[in-house]
Amino acid sequence: MRSTMQDVPLSVATIVRHGTTVHGSGEVLTCTEEGARSATYAEVGRRAAQLAGALRGLGVQGDDRVATFMWNNQEHLEAYLAVPSMGAVLHTLNIRLFPDQVIYIANHAEDKVVLVDGSLLPLLAKMLPELSTVDHVVVNGPGDTSLITGGRAQVHSWQELIAGQPEAVDWVEVDERDAAAMCYTSGTTGGPKGVAYSHRSIYLHSMQICMREGFGLSSADRALAVVPMFHAMAWGLPYAALMVGASLHLPDRFLAPEPLARFISEERPTFAAAVPTVWTGLLAHLDATPSDMTSLREVVVGGSACPPALMQAFEQRHGVRITHAWGMTETSPLGSVAQPPPGLSAEQEWPYRVSQGLLPAGVTGRLVGPDGTRLPHDGTSVGELEVRGPWVTASYYRDDDPEKFHDGWLRTGDVGSLTPDGYLTLTDRSKDVIKSGGEWISSVELENHLMGHPAVAEASVVGVPDDKWGERPLATVVVREGATVSAEELRAFLAGLVAGWQVPERWAFIAEVPKTSVGKFDKKVLRKQYAEGSLEVTRLS
Ligand code: ADP
Repeated sequence: MRSTMQDVPLSVATIVRHGTTVHGSGEVLTCTEEGARSATYAEVGRRAAQLAGALRGLGVQGDDRVATFMWNNQEHLEAYLAVPSMGAVLHTLNIRLFPDQVIYIANHAEDKVVLVDGSLLPLLAKMLPELSTVDHVVVNGPGDTSLITGGRAQVHSWQELIAGQPEAVDWVEVDERDAAAMCYTSGTTGGPKGVAYSHRSIYLHSMQICMREGFGLSSADRALAVVPMFHAMAWGLPYAALMVGASLHLPDRFLAPEPLARFISEERPTFAAAVPTVWTGLLAHLDATPSDMTSLREVVVGGSACPPALMQAFEQRHGVRITHAWGMTETSPLGSVAQPPPGLSAEQEWPYRVSQGLLPAGVTGRLVGPDGTRLPHDGTSVGELEVRGPWVTASYYRDDDPEKFHDGWLRTGDVGSLTPDGYLTLTDRSKDVIKSGGEWISSVELENHLMGHPAVAEASVVGVPDDKWGERPLATVVVREGATVSAEELRAFLAGLVAGWQVPERWAFIAEVPKTSVGKFDKKVLRKQYAEGSLEVTRLS
C-alpha cells in the first residue's frame, strides 16, 4: 500500500521561506573592525532574493555552479540562501588551500560565477587566469579590482549588482534529490574530492542538528560558527539556525584568539563550533587573559579528535562544556555527537563524552575487518567504520573512487569500535595508525595523553619507518609558553599511561604543529619533514 501522505519536496527554499518570515527577527551578527554589524533574517532574505535576481541577470541557470570564496559573514549566508533556492548549486571554495588546489577544484566543479570578499580579492586575482569556466566575479565590499588583470571573467560590485533587484522571488520548485550545494574534502590524507549535497540531505541534516542527539539548536540559541562556511558547510549550522530561528554569529576574518574571545564576551553566543586547534589557541589566550565565556551553554568540537585535557581545562577553568562530535565532508558532516545518556553523574558521563559519540538514527554504522568481514559492536572489536544514511554521500562528484564505497556503504577510513548502544570510539585514521611489529599503536591516544601533560601545548604523533619494527611512533611536541619539559620526562609520563612498547623513542620539540587548511594537524607534512631530516629528533634508547 502506498502512503496517503503528500509528496512535498524537502528543499533549501522551504528552510529559507520559513526562516526569513516566521523567524524573520532572528539576528545575523558579523564581526568587523568596529564591532559587530547586525541584520535580521528578514533583511537577509530580502537581500538573498536580490542576489538571486542579480545572478539570473548574469545568466545563471539550471544547475550552474556559483562558488563562494569568502569568510563567514552575512553576505556568505545570503549566498547560502539564494543559490540553492534559485535551483543553482552553491560551491563553497576553501580560501586556505594552495592556489593549485583551488584552481583544480573550481575547474573540476565548472564554477560559472565566483562570489568573493573584497579582502580576498588579491588571493583570487592570482588564480583567476587559470579558472577556465568562470564568467563572472562578484566582489563583496571594498576590494582592489585593478588586481584582476587576466582571465575571461567580468568583475562586478555585489552592492551595485543587487541594487534595484526585487526583494522577493518565487523560489524554484526543485527535485529534492538534485544538488543544492557542494564541498570538496580538504585533502588531509589525499587529493580533494567533491561531494554534492541534495536539497533533501540538507533538510534532513538540518533537522538532525536541531535534535538533542545533534547540537540541540533552538530559537533560544545564538550560534557562533567559527568553523568556516567552506568546511563541510560550517557543519550545517547556517541552515539549521534558519530552520529553528537561532541567531547566527559570524566571525568574518577575525579568527585569532583575542578577537574571538572579545566577540564571545560582547555578543554572548550560547553555542559555538570549531576544530580542536581553535579551542587550544583560545584556551591559552583565556588562561593568560580571562574573559567571560559563560554565555556558552555548549561548544561542539570535531573535525579531529578532541583531547580530553582540552575538555577538562575549558570546563574547570572557564565554565564551558565541550561536546565532542565526529563527521566528514562526506557525511554532511554530522555523524556522531557525544551526548551522554541522561541521568548519569559527571563521572559516569565522562567515558561517553570523550568518545566520538552516538550515531543518530539517520546514520547507520558498521565495523569491518581488513578482510571485509563484519565485526561485532561489542565496544572492543576494532575495525574500519562504514556508514550509510540519507545525508551520507554515495559517490564523489565526477571522480570514481570505488575503494571508498563498499556495497552501498561509505568507507570512512576511520578505525575504531562501536558499543552495542551505538557509541563510537575512534582510535585513528587508517592512514595514521602506527603499525609496529604487527601491533597497532593509536597516534590519537598518545597525542591525547601527551596533551594532558601540563607542560605540553600541542602534540602530534606520526609513524616513521623503523628497521626493526617496520614503523615506530615519532612524538612531536610544542611546549607551553613559560614551561620546560624534556623527552625523558615525557617518556616517563607516557610509560605510566600506555603499554611500554607503545612509548615513542623518537621525540622532536617544535614551535608549532603544521596545520591543514581547516586547522587539523597535518601529519603528511610532519612525515615529510622527518623524511627530509628537517626535524631535530632526539632518540632515546
Ligand atoms: P579531510 O578528510 O580532508 O580532513 P574532513 O573534514 O571531511 O576532511 O575530515 C573528516 C575526517 O576527520 C574523518 O574521517 C576523521 O578522520 C576526522 N575526524 C572528524 N571528527 C573527528 C573526531 N571527533 N575524532 C577523530 N577524528 C575526527
